[in-house]
Amino acid sequence: MIVFEHIRKEFGGRTVIDDVSLRVEEGEFFALVGPSGSGKSTLLRMVNRLVTPDGGTVRVDGTDIATLSVEPLRRGIGYAIQSVGLFPHRTVGDNIATVPRLLGWTKAAIDERVEALLGLLHLDEPGMASRYPRTLSGGQQQRVGVARALAARPRIVLMDEPFGALDPLTRESLQVSLKAIQRETKTTILFVTHDMDEAFGLGDRVGLMLGGRLVQTGTPTELIRAPVDDVVREFVGGAR
Ligand code: ADP
Ligand code: MG
Repeated sequence: MIVFEHIRKEFGGRTVIDDVSLRVEEGEFFALVGPSGSGKSTLLRMVNRLVTPDGGTVRVDGTDIATLSVEPLRRGIGYAIQSVGLFPHRTVGDNIATVPRLLGWTKAAIDERVEALLGLLHLDEPGMASRYPRTLSGGQQQRVGVARALAARPRIVLMDEPFGALDPLTRESLQVSLKAIQRETKTTILFVTHDMDEAFGLGDRVGLMLGGRLVQTGTPTELIRAPVDDVVREFVGGAR
């Protein structure tokens, strides 16, 4: 579904992505994990063309995305990030409805979808859809960010530390909700985190990035049982 082929990226003459190749399969929850600065966000942002690779090809459904128009590409891909980025002057419902509206869904279809997502993400306090983001807790805002990313039922969702900066309980509850939604909808998710436990808990497969290189890819069990080297062993040892 998402294929990275020999991807390379430099910033100011420094290589930050070094010959990364990766296939994320359809319907898979893929967790890309690694320490801060290892290149995870840069790689993820190539899929919706917020970053352009200096070398290599990114394919979605077999098509080199460099040949596609950016706007339709982005509309077809959900994107949720740590800083949420909700529109402050729009209600929760309007925030969630952003992409469905761009796609021309009917009002009835949008309302139904908003209600369903509020339920799925445990945002079902009365009147939630008509509240403004500033009246929500940080955890609730992040849930709205996730709901917005899922709203138009995209086949691909990119998530960049979407649960960062949350207390452990809220985080765990969101992880459970997301995993359930992903299983049910068979959405392909590329999820970036620096948290080993989160990656191993969520990912059908995990890719470990270190210093711009993808050092190992496999199921959590494979990484734990058969790390390719001592460096991987040490990182994986940090996960429960
Ligand atoms: P991660 O998401 O794993 O923390 P990033 O992909 O954000 O890592 O960054 C990888 C490296 O690229 C870091 O050293 C970061 O400073 C650098 N970098 C990322 N974006 C830019 C940019 N727009 N300009 C210059 N350097 C950047
Ligand atoms: Mg990052």
